[in-house]
Amino acid sequence: MNKMFSFDNPMASVSAPTRDFLARQHGLFIGGDWVAGRSGERRAVVDPATGLEHASVTEGTSEDIDRAVAAARDAFENGPWPKMKPKERAAIVHRIGELIDAHGDEFAELDVLDEGSPWGVVRNFYVALSADHFRYFAGWATKLDGATMPVNMGGEWLAYSQREPVGVVGQILPWNVPMLMAAWKIAPALAAGCTLVVKPAEDTPMSALRLAELCREAGLPDGVLNVVTGAGAVGAALAEHPDVDKVSFTGSTATGKAIVRAAAGNLKRVSLELGGKSPVFVFPDADLDLAIPGVAEAVFLNSGQACTAGSRLYIHEDVYDRVLEGVAAYAEGLKLGHGFDPATNLGPLINRKQFDRVNRLMETGVSEGASIVTGGSPADGDGLFYRPTLLAGVTPSHTVYREEIFGPVISAMKITDETVTALAREANNTEYGLGASVWTKDLARAHKLAARIRAGIVWVNNHNQSDANFPWGGYKQSGWGREMGKSAIELYTETKSVAVYLGDQD
Ligand code: NAD
Repeated sequence: MNKMFSFDNPMASVSAPTRDFLARQHGLFIGGDWVAGRSGERRAVVDPATGLEHASVTEGTSEDIDRAVAAARDAFENGPWPKMKPKERAAIVHRIGELIDAHGDEFAELDVLDEGSPWGVVRNFYVALSADHFRYFAGWATKLDGATMPVNMGGEWLAYSQREPVGVVGQILPWNVPMLMAAWKIAPALAAGCTLVVKPAEDTPMSALRLAELCREAGLPDGVLNVVTGAGAVGAALAEHPDVDKVSFTGSTATGKAIVRAAAGNLKRVSLELGGKSPVFVFPDADLDLAIPGVAEAVFLNSGQACTAGSRLYIHEDVYDRVLEGVAAYAEGLKLGHGFDPATNLGPLINRKQFDRVNRLMETGVSEGASIVTGGSPADGDGLFYRPTLLAGVTPSHTVYREEIFGPVISAMKITDETVTALAREANNTEYGLGASVWTKDLARAHKLAARIRAGIVWVNNHNQSDANFPWGGYKQSGWGREMGKSAIELYTETKSVAVYLGDQD
């Protein structure tokens, strides 16, 4: 992004292909083509940094979900995709990855406009990882093997298992990190041979729509990937649809519970990536030059709008003042701004509702006794920018300790020489169990804590890093199942056991 940036006209920073794409009258992507929604209604897509509308999308309905599910069902039962030779399916999924790279600037532009994160992190991290993700899962299409089992039934038998695609999958996406969240879900499901109906989040639909037409360009058969934009009710229609075999959801824990209830009708398979309240431990032997920016970025990445945000920071008393001062100085050095502005380190919050929620939780935190080390209020102006915030003196009874804030707020607590068991108990004092990090050079302490923290992901001397081959998901109310790696293939396949009676032993 080397163009001139103007806050009053962010579209001046956008390439011609993206401008053309945004200017189109977007329909729903069903059966391999753009179709009009049944309601005729449209929804504005707004840049959270400026409040300016840059596109509009179709407001889908449950009838549109019916059409999309019918297209996905037809593609699953009658189309070539599930039966295609694995290497051919792999080639198409791989080609999607290549096309994402080739159009990387466009995807990054769409996500910066929709979600507001800084260009550098979106382009070099989120979009690049999305392309990697498709290439990685392309490799799985040729490796969906089963096993042979010795069995003890009477006579002689050949018993084996095989993996089959789960069928028609509904995928409901959150608004944070939109392109990568779409890739996390779509790539493994395609590799497994499923057909999909994807419902992007209301605030951030543009990269998923662009991805749909790119998938067609890569050779994905019609009806394999369908995209229906719209409100939560559209997601609910997908989650309860009787002809959907599985629903995969990323979003809040409250909505995750609604999905589970909706899925009960036909007992569809469910996987959930939900909220978190991830603990971070800094010990005196940690490399503080690495740890201080590391624990700050554990939350400030994406303005705190990350499910694994390391929002509960436990600092050992020997380094407490130094770490607190260092994180505060780091926070104060961050420049809030538009994602296209090369000077920006921190974007806005996604919408007014989230902004008000962060503000409300901050006020509650202070009224309950937490003290503000830095930040603690909206930035100047009437936008959705919230100052990176460090709170000290937080205790487990405080609301900010328990509730996911999903904003740039760190709650710091002092620890002493508690045992690993006591520290793990503290870390586990939450209804969530998604991420955690431990900053220390003491390998034994790091591994013991990693073993005892009840969370799906533990980093040592880092935080928030992801890889297509690194399973991701939560314990407790942070979710069901693991995305990425082989685990993601398991989410999108059923195991069939076949027993062939060969007759009497002779
Ligand atoms: P949300 O639950 O409000 O919405 C997520 C999606 O669900 C949106 O597409 C929305 O339209 C849809 N939806 C809303 N109500 C629905 C319903 N009743 N039935 C079906 N779909 C419905 O969450 P959000 O505000 O978009 O995302 C923020 C949350 O997501 C945070 O809590 C965050 O921790 C979590 N998150 C988790 C992960 C992870 O990997 N675990 C990743 C990203 C975000």
